[in-house]
Parts: sequence; C-alpha cells; structure tokens
Amino acid sequence: MMVAVFGGGHSGTAQVRYSIRPLPTDSLLHLRIATTFTGEADGVTRFALPDDRFGVASLHRWVRDVEAGPNVRLAAREPGVYEVSHEPRAEVQVVYTVAYDPNEAGFKPFGPSVDAHHFHFFGAQWMARVGAEKGAHEVVRSIEVEFDDTDWDGAWASSYGVGPGPHRIQASDYDLDYSVVAGGAYRTATAQCQGRPVLTAVHGDFAIADETVFALTDSVVCGQRSVFSDFDHPFFTVFITERDDLEAGAPLLHGFTAFLDPGASEEELRWLLAHEMIHTWLPRSARVFEAEHPDAPESRTRWFHEGFTEYLARLTLVKQGLLPRSWMVEQTNEDLRRLAYQPYRTLTLDELDAATQASRYNGVHHRLHYVRGALLALNWDARIRRASEGEHSLVDPIRALLREARANDGAIEIAALSRLFESFGVDAAADIERYLEGGVLLPPELDAFAPDYALRSEELPRFEPGFDVVHWIESGAIVDLKPGGTAERAGLREGMRIRRRGNAAPWHGRWDPSQPIILIVGEDEPRRFEFSATGPSMQVPVFVAVDESSSD
Ligand SMILES: [Zn+2]
Repeated sequence: MMVAVFGGGHSGTAQVRYSIRPLPTDSLLHLRIATTFTGEADGVTRFALPDDRFGVASLHRWVRDVEAGPNVRLAAREPGVYEVSHEPRAEVQVVYTVAYDPNEAGFKPFGPSVDAHHFHFFGAQWMARVGAEKGAHEVVRSIEVEFDDTDWDGAWASSYGVGPGPHRIQASDYDLDYSVVAGGAYRTATAQCQGRPVLTAVHGDFAIADETVFALTDSVVCGQRSVFSDFDHPFFTVFITERDDLEAGAPLLHGFTAFLDPGASEEELRWLLAHEMIHTWLPRSARVFEAEHPDAPESRTRWFHEGFTEYLARLTLVKQGLLPRSWMVEQTNEDLRRLAYQPYRTLTLDELDAATQASRYNGVHHRLHYVRGALLALNWDARIRRASEGEHSLVDPIRALLREARANDGAIEIAALSRLFESFGVDAAADIERYLEGGVLLPPELDAFAPDYALRSEELPRFEPGFDVVHWIESGAIVDLKPGGTAERAGLREGMRIRRRGNAAPWHGRWDPSQPIILIVGEDEPRRFEFSATGPSMQVPVFVAVDESSSD
C-alpha cells in the first residue's frame, strides 16, 4: 500500500488545525469551523469543503459563509472546492459554517444528527480537506482538533481525544471520515479500563436509564478488550444517539458510534454495543483481503467482517454473562430460518460480486453475508472446541489474527487467515471454497451447542406468494404469476409494480405465515392486496434444548 504524507517540512507540527465552535440558531445548531494551515510553496492551496460518504449527497450545499483571512483570495474551482491564493508558505486561515438541516435533506440513516440542542457529525460531514485531494487510505494527514467553547455550556465529545483539546492525530482520509464530533444535550460519563479513559456520550430519550447505558458500555468495552487481550487504545469514545427505527453503528479510530431507536430494549442495546465493539477489531484493526481479488468490492469479505463480527458479539456477550446462552441459540436458530428463506442462499461470492458490480446488490444480498458468515463462525468455533477438547474457542485464532494484522498495517490476507484457523484444526480454505466460493448450502455442526442443545429439524411452511420472488426483490415487478395461485386470485396481474410490502420478508425474519402478506401497488391510487403466501412445508435445522429444565 502506498502511503504519502501530505505536505512536508513541518514534521512534528500539525499541518491543519481545526477549531470547532457551535453556533446556536433558533432551530438548529450550526458549526463554525476555523481551519489554519501553512499554504503550499507555489502560493495556491486546494481547499475542499466536507464531502460526505454516509449518504448525504453534495453536503457542501449546507456549508456557508466561507471566508479567508487578509491577503488571501478564495476562488471557487468546482462545486465544494476552492482554490486558495496566498503568499508562498504563508499561514492561512479559512473559516466556514456547517449549517446542515436534516429537514431539508430528508432522512439519511447515517446523516448528521442535529437539532437546536445537539449535534453529531462524522468527520466526512464537517471537516474540510486542505491540500492533497481526499483519497481513502493513501493520504495520511497530520491534524489538530480543538473545541472553542467560549459561550458554550453544552456537553461535547469527540473521537479525537478526551477533553477540549487541542488533540493531535495522524490519520488517513478514511479514518478522518470515520471520526465524530458531538455535543449539546449529550449526557456523558467517563470510566477507566486498565487506566485508560472510556467516555460514553448519550443523546436521546431512551427507555433504558442512562446509568444502565453507561454501565453496559463500560462492561462491553472493557470486557471485550480482556477477551482479545488488546488494551491499545489510549482513550475510547462511544456515542449513542437516538434515531427512529435504527439499530446500527460505525467503528471509529478510537471508539464507535451507535444509532438506536428510543424504544429499544436492553437486550437490543447489549447486542448493538457488542456488535459495534467487535467492529473496532474486525475490520478496523484486521481487514481481510484476497490477494487474487485486490479490487473486489467490500462485499466480497463481508461474510467475515459482518458474519464473524456478529458471531463474536454473541459469543462475548454470553462469555461475559451479559446475555444467556439460550439467547445465542435462539439467534442462531433465527439465522437458520432466515437462511432457509433466503432466495440467494446458494449464490457464490463471484455471483454476489457481479451483483455489486452491476449495481444490483440489494438488502437481501447484504443480509446473506451476515447469516452465512455467522453460521460459518459457529461451525469453526464448534470444530476448534472439539479439536482442543474445549480448551480453545474461535477467540484464539481471532487473537492470533489480530496480532498478525497489527504487524501488517491492519490488513490480513485470506490465505493467512486460513493458515491460522488450520493450526486450530479448521480446514478454513476448504470451507471458504465449498460454501462461499461454491455456494453450497451451509449445514450447522451437530454439536455446536452440545451437550445441552442438539440439532433437530423444524417444520416450516415455504414462502410461496405465487410469482417470481427474486424478480420481485430486484425489480419490484410481478412476473411469472402462477395461474390460479393465491396472488392471481387476489387480483395481482403480470407486470404490476409493488410499492410497499408488509409481513412479506421471511429472509429478514419478518413473516408470520398465519397472517396474510400485504402488497401495495400503485402510487397515486394505491391498491392493497392481501393473501396467504404459505406453501408446502419444509424441514429447517434448529437447535433444541436436550433437557428443557437444564437450559441456560
Ligand atoms: Zn456490523
């Protein structure tokens, strides 16, 4: 990997200093950002306004009042990019206001969270890039970030450091995109994990008490660090922000951020914290890649980065006593059911890549990686425990993998991953070839939850709405309508386009066969169709308690 350090001749000093000042307005908090930097030797420096990677197109539209200091000229070069003219190597200041309005932008799951009382921005959403063009892993920037809290009595937190700063960091553009500043009506608490601060910042009106959220965050963060014997982060910031209908997050350079529905249960919070915390290792500290597919889409390794993350989240929650083993078994059974209903369950990695390359990759493809990856992790864990007579678990090769990735800039080749697992008795390469590259349906290991759970089978109805399900998922249109089938009898016709659906996504665990599925056709005069999609029964493998009274 080529690494170029932007600028030069200023080693030890920050090349761009960002000062952040919240500007309260009637309905929104704006951020006034002052950047200070040493201009290029030829007297012209590129200055690019924030460019989001989390779903807000042309975020620079919400940036206003771009101003430069004396003896500096600003010229707009292209939308969102300025050319700054100055004396050669002069110290230059450019100031701008981020005035993002979520009501104008519409709902973006990972868009900035902002109102009159709080704000949460990813680096990609507030930070201008000075000099070299923004470019993923290739550029390492040296920056300083500080909070200018004159006239500001709200809380704030960031992933750059604990306290107002200035915090100095060296990071790639990718890492800067995945950083966060937040403030206002956040409640914060700081705990120590092996003498290193863990700051938790919570915003929202949750059903779970703050004390519980703080305590859970601390036990998940510190507990997982013990599991993986990794206490490297000098500090760590966890953001938990209210967002309707969402349970999702993102790993940061030193922390993670999570968005959670205000009505979420404590179980959902435990799961979300554990999942996002595992992401600080996978892929954050150990990104798997395939040497023979260097330009493959990110989805190529999602079975590992998401599936293994999901399995390890469950495993560590149970190990730490934060959720019972019966919960983990039920999660696994739910995966097995979803896999049985997955219309893509036998797709190969190449076929999934092709879908990505043709921009056909959809949410159902996406979930396949999670389910298939978690099941593969379960099987490997079972084999490791069997081969070592219970002495080792999946955690051991993952620890070794983290060590190896650390020595290799945070990346690990899939062949190296296979070798590590092989040393624990798992023929990983053969499984990857058969089940992922070959698309063979993955059977669970019989003894994965032995001795208290055994693999049995459960009778479930097939999902048969009476038309081509894959075509419907990919295009929204009804084709291959079965003559005399329930859909046709309910009034659906060939070529109709489905606008919305209800109780009709068994691959996401959202189908109650005892109730009709609901399909809405047409935009202006929507027509609603309700009918049974229950087909003949099928056998699905599930784990059941051998002795009900001894489970848990
Ligand atoms: Zn994830």
